Amino acid sequence: ANTPIYDFVIVGGGTSGLVVANRLSENKDITVAVIEAGDSVFSNPNVTNVNGYGRAFGTNIDWAYPTEPQIYAGGGRQIMRAGKAIGGTSTINGMAYTRAQDVQIDAWEQVGNDGWNWKSLFPYFTKSEEFQIPTRNQISRGADYYITYHGENGNLKVGWPSLITNRTLLPLLDQTFNQLGVPFNRDVNGGRMVGLTSHPDTVDSTENIREDAARAYYWPYQNRSNLKILTNTFANKIIWSNDTRSEATAVGVEVKNSRGVQTIYASKEVILAAGAVKSPAILELSGVGNPDILRKYNITVKVNIPTVGENLQDQTNNGINYQGLEFWLGSPTFSVLPSANQLYGSNVSNVAAYVKSSMTEYAKVVANSSNGAVSEANILEAFQVQHDLIFKSQVPYAEIVLLPILDSFSVEYWPLLPFARGNVHIKSADPSATPAINPNFFQFSQDLDAQVDVAKFIRKAFSTNPLNDLVGDEFAPGLDNLPNDAPASEWNDWVKSNYRTNYHPVGTASMLPREKGGVVSSTLKVYGTKNVRVVDASIIPFQVCGHLTATIYAVAEKVSDAIKNRYRI
Ligand code: FAD
Repeated sequence: ANTPIYDFVIVGGGTSGLVVANRLSENKDITVAVIEAGDSVFSNPNVTNVNGYGRAFGTNIDWAYPTEPQIYAGGGRQIMRAGKAIGGTSTINGMAYTRAQDVQIDAWEQVGNDGWNWKSLFPYFTKSEEFQIPTRNQISRGADYYITYHGENGNLKVGWPSLITNRTLLPLLDQTFNQLGVPFNRDVNGGRMVGLTSHPDTVDSTENIREDAARAYYWPYQNRSNLKILTNTFANKIIWSNDTRSEATAVGVEVKNSRGVQTIYASKEVILAAGAVKSPAILELSGVGNPDILRKYNITVKVNIPTVGENLQDQTNNGINYQGLEFWLGSPTFSVLPSANQLYGSNVSNVAAYVKSSMTEYAKVVANSSNGAVSEANILEAFQVQHDLIFKSQVPYAEIVLLPILDSFSVEYWPLLPFARGNVHIKSADPSATPAINPNFFQFSQDLDAQVDVAKFIRKAFSTNPLNDLVGDEFAPGLDNLPNDAPASEWNDWVKSNYRTNYHPVGTASMLPREKGGVVSSTLKVYGTKNVRVVDASIIPFQVCGHLTATIYAVAEKVSDAIKNRYRI
């Protein structure tokens, strides 16, 4: 049989993978193969329907990875959702388009990632974006923007769903949150995220359908003869050259599909874009990782990087539900992003001091639960960066998503920067086995406290007029079941029995200097390899306050330029 060979082989045709595939195949002399376990969802109504959030969950396009039992959170498992389709998780997500706070991206450079700061990433946020100016009707319902923050010529349609929730709502929210010290933020995407905002979505505002990575970066380009996507094809591991040069050289990827097992060869690079759960697992299956873990499964160590799979950061999501007194039609787009000062008021310095004094202990716990991979000093430095972001820079502390739908008014919320650090590691040499995913939710009391403190802030907002006038009883958890003055143990029990993952895993192949525990360099190349990169959510070293796709698209755009420069293509 003839053995196919491409310049670049990309593992994962998801959010990040399709960006890189698109950009590299702009040059028709360059051949690109994308290996994707899923299939087309172009006309799947569970994907396209802008009000269909959740309908794809549990279907065959949801990986639905079970986590390990969460020992700090009552012992249950969570379901980590992720899309299995051309377009990846962007085909099943909540579509919110929010970037990050500027100083969070600046922090990437401060810890040693040369060239990564808000200013240098900003042109890639706009390069990826096709901002759709809201209509007068959408503006009357709260859509707002500064055009200088947006790109109008990119691939990804960003805008508002055609029908936003009733126009009466925003002024009432604004009056309410102003009394709590949270101002209106006209545009959350300029690097300043704090406030009440009507965020845009990844949506095609004209067709009123979901805009996912495939619609943006693949379908319009599917006829490029130098771009090949292999669907229903599972990547097992990287295949290395036999030479014994100091850097490991990838020659291709072993894949499995209905035709059996074969190798797809790469003459230039293998690029991992399988997401924050799978990319570190593929590295381990390929012999890149912690020797103690690899040896357990008789995998030959190709590159010793013990931190592969460590540094997993996700958030925890919870909800409060009210009866609505008004009837709400349309798609809700309002979020509240309070800073720590706004949330804690005069108590903020106590909270800051408590967290500061706990961080040495937190660092010990993380180091001890990292299979010997994470050093206390490195994680303590990361915690200091995080403490500064929260308490000095006052990045948003939580996101509170307001969901007035028909006759109910629900809230989903998550503290944005928990201190828990977990990991993802293979638990078998069989590539088809789901890795052990252990986010360590509520590893630290501060993470639990934050969840409770934000819930109390939400209750305060909903008992403040005019918002209070719009709702009836809180039916979940309900004041009878969980009074405001309930003891901490009851609040904690409620949090642990009701939370879910926020589906924002990052950090499992962190971009950091190698001596600081990094897996990839500032060009996203895996240390110790000549030609393997990771380009997905795994490389984000510190959790960001935006939803993830906006940042992932920008990172993928930026690394595409770096790869093109490297090969002069
Ligand atoms: P993915 O997009 O997941 O791409 C990975 C691809 O690799 C997938 O297509 C997968 O099928 C494929 N793959 C994996 N393993 C293999 C293998 N072995 N062989 C071949 N292919 C493989 N972000 C937002 O910005 N806004 C939101 O509102 C939002 N809501 C969310 C709601 C949910 C339910 C979820 C799950 C996530 C949400 N996110 C949201 C997060 C965001 O969608 C993801 O972080 C992002 O899409 C991840 O991009 P990625 O490129 O890292 O991985």
